[in-house]
Amino acid sequence: MNSAFPTILGCLVLFSVLENLFPFFTFKQSWTSRISTNFAIGLLNAAITYLVFAALSKWVFPPIHWSGLFHGIQPHWLVGIISFLLLDIYRYGWHVLMHMSSLGWRFHRVHHTERTMNISTAYRFHFLEVICSNFPRVFLIWLFGINPVCVFIYDVAFAAIQVFQHSNWAVPLNVDKVLTYFIITPNFHRVHHSQIVKETNSNYGSVLSVWDRLFGTFRYIRHPQTIKIGLSEEPRQLNLLDLLTLPF
Ligand SMILES: [Zn+2]
Repeated sequence: MNSAFPTILGCLVLFSVLENLFPFFTFKQSWTSRISTNFAIGLLNAAITYLVFAALSKWVFPPIHWSGLFHGIQPHWLVGIISFLLLDIYRYGWHVLMHMSSLGWRFHRVHHTERTMNISTAYRFHFLEVICSNFPRVFLIWLFGINPVCVFIYDVAFAAIQVFQHSNWAVPLNVDKVLTYFIITPNFHRVHHSQIVKETNSNYGSVLSVWDRLFGTFRYIRHPQTIKIGLSEEPRQLNLLDLLTLPF
């Protein structure tokens, strides 16, 4: 985590500069309200998740000696690629679940209430969604015995692409379109944040776009400037307390 921090900070600075120099949507962003709220909830999520899993690993999780399904399998580079794909398809599946289940949506809609998008939107999640999303992930890592280096590489890629895809950077359309053959881009993810429900229920990928293409949830629209971001039923600008209590 500590060694990933410079990369994450670097991405935040880079995409912050780019989205301010080359904005996609032009709107006045209030650094004292929306952006600070998103960063505050992001820090809260990181702190609570760290404390919960530190406590669970110390007092609750039993010390089961198990090397994992990948134990002894070679070549290591292939196991590394498969590990990356497993971690990413898990994120895809979790995101679909958050949209398809009424309970999941109660919490995940916190993320979708943002009426603009910028780098801070990447951190706007309810802490219960963040904590719950980590339980199956920890089990997946344990079951397959995914190497901590692979987990680290995936987590750095995830953190970087999350900031990139939520940024308000106007990536040239042709470049954005080519990139969507591999990774999640800002235009691709703007469709997911659209107020139109059938557009919200598409483009669930986190790092790689292959899962949306494979499972038929890929959607790319020609004129992303026309997208209205947010939830039509939630026009308010929500503060930190509003976001924490929204699911209830
Ligand atoms: Zn979503």
